[in-house]
Amino acid sequence: MNEILLKIKNIKKIYGQKAALKGISLDVYKGEILGLLGVNGAGKTTLSSIIATLIPPTEGDIELDGVSIYKDLTTYRFSLGFCPQRPNLNPMLSLEQNLRLAGSYYGMSETQIDERLAILVNQFELAPFLHQRAMVLSGGYKQRFMIARSLMHSPKLVLMDEPTVALDPHIRRQLWAIIKDLKKTGVTVILTTHYLDEAEHLADRVCVLDQGQIKLIDTPEKLKADFNMSNLEDVFLALTQETITKNN
Ligand code: ATP
Repeated sequence: MNEILLKIKNIKKIYGQKAALKGISLDVYKGEILGLLGVNGAGKTTLSSIIATLIPPTEGDIELDGVSIYKDLTTYRFSLGFCPQRPNLNPMLSLEQNLRLAGSYYGMSETQIDERLAILVNQFELAPFLHQRAMVLSGGYKQRFMIARSLMHSPKLVLMDEPTVALDPHIRRQLWAIIKDLKKTGVTVILTTHYLDEAEHLADRVCVLDQGQIKLIDTPEKLKADFNMSNLEDVFLALTQETITKNN
């Protein structure tokens, strides 16, 4: 039986006349990687921004371990890590300083920071770059650090927004291995991506959004079997063709 970490209940977001989300209900299970997919404008960023508490919903609720996050946003934010699409490490600080800063932001003591830093440096093989400044790093290593930074305060849930965008194929593969390994540490990941191969490789389940609603949610294997297709990209194209045709 899957244990529910996050319960998203009838989330709506209205911008003026535009309903960006029309009532999203979804359970996120402990320890899973959930892929959030959809064509441009489907509502992925709006949904992940609401889960990240960057914006409030117009209606609806989100529960973490059975308690509304809106009762105590601070506690919820301590359970949450956010890895944005564009690296936003402080370029003037060393990578170690960047990681330490993230730890102190979450109120960790020096001892806690030292311990966590040692674990993450080992987990992400960061040692050779720790004393370099963020600006000298390649895109792939910046992204590794971004993921490590989002994990400094040991969150239960990490939101990743297109973590491998604009990276070359072998660096993407390295990051995939890193993200997949997070499962071993019990972290739950919500991954927004436009790359269908990425979702197929990483996600335990994918949630396809379409015009502010959930079109389908299931495992990549089940979706491929149901649609009788050999890869998720073909399933996605078949699912979203209607929307694309309507909008063009
Ligand atoms: P993309 O893949 O292009 O990032 P998306 O799936 O993330 O798209 P959203 O950015 O969540 O989609 O947008 C969903 C809908 O809400 C779109 O029609 C968008 O134009 C609209 N929208 C998003 N943010 C705002 C805003 N601040 N004001 C008005 N409309 C908005």
